[in-house]
Amino acid sequence: MNLTDLHTVKDLCNRFGFGVKKKFGQNFIIDAKIPDIISSTAEGKCALEIGPGIGTLTEALCRRCEKVVSVEIDRTLEKLLDFTVGDFSNLKVVFADVMKTDILSLCREEFGDKKVCVCANLPYYVTSPVLLLLMECGFPFESITVMVQKEVADRLCADPGTPEYGAITLTCRRYGRPVKLADVPKTSFYPVPGVDSAVVSIIPAEKEEIYCKDEELLTKVIRASFNQRRKTLVNALSSGLALKTKEEYEKIIVSCGHRADVRGEKLSLSDFAEIVNNM
Ligand code: SAM
Repeated sequence: MNLTDLHTVKDLCNRFGFGVKKKFGQNFIIDAKIPDIISSTAEGKCALEIGPGIGTLTEALCRRCEKVVSVEIDRTLEKLLDFTVGDFSNLKVVFADVMKTDILSLCREEFGDKKVCVCANLPYYVTSPVLLLLMECGFPFESITVMVQKEVADRLCADPGTPEYGAITLTCRRYGRPVKLADVPKTSFYPVPGVDSAVVSIIPAEKEEIYCKDEELLTKVIRASFNQRRKTLVNALSSGLALKTKEEYEKIIVSCGHRADVRGEKLSLSDFAEIVNNM
């Protein structure tokens, strides 16, 4: 059975009375190269998959990985998934909303101290929250490789000073290094979504590359700067993070070598860390 063949996908949906649900961001891969590209990042390791859908990427993962755990919100996929990938003894499907799942506990329970990679074609409506959840859950993933909308891929990989640069870019930089593995046109999915996509792999940094004395404060400073990105950093911090006076913020920012009217969108992660280290 070829799960990337459009006729097969449509036949399976008909046979199991399954209607594709837009509200769950269900766009299934119908390009055989993609499961191969994503699953190759988890070769010989374990994989956590978010949203198996009809099992297209799941199947590729089960062939390459020691163990696969797939979290799927849509229970109406149960019989179909059992038909397509139910024979793999190294697969466990968990029916749950990933946003309500304790990822750290799930991974510890299912994988122990084995090497685990995240592999997923993420649902569009919840891409950024799921990415943040994965990066912030505390489990030491080997890599996080995800298909996301092209716009999100651009934001993850953006440089300071570009319109795409934002809080998620910096969260990603704190976590590790993003690499774009492939551009994926919208015609590679059924049904065809409104936007193109890309596969991005984030490899966690081996050690703290940037020293920051207070990681929690760094998170707050980054959030405050990008919540009001049109404001200068001084104004964004004095209104969004009222820990100091406007004058005090200005003094710190200038002492770190920036203009008093600099905006957060111009600063790199190490610039933000330096500002926090001087607060
Ligand atoms: N992996 C399949 C593929 O690539 O063809 C399906 C990917 S589809 C873009 C996203 C999948 O995530 C769907 O199966 C959808 O039901 C599931 N999903 C959506 N929201 C979810 C959530 N909050 N938790 C877990 N799975 C979710």
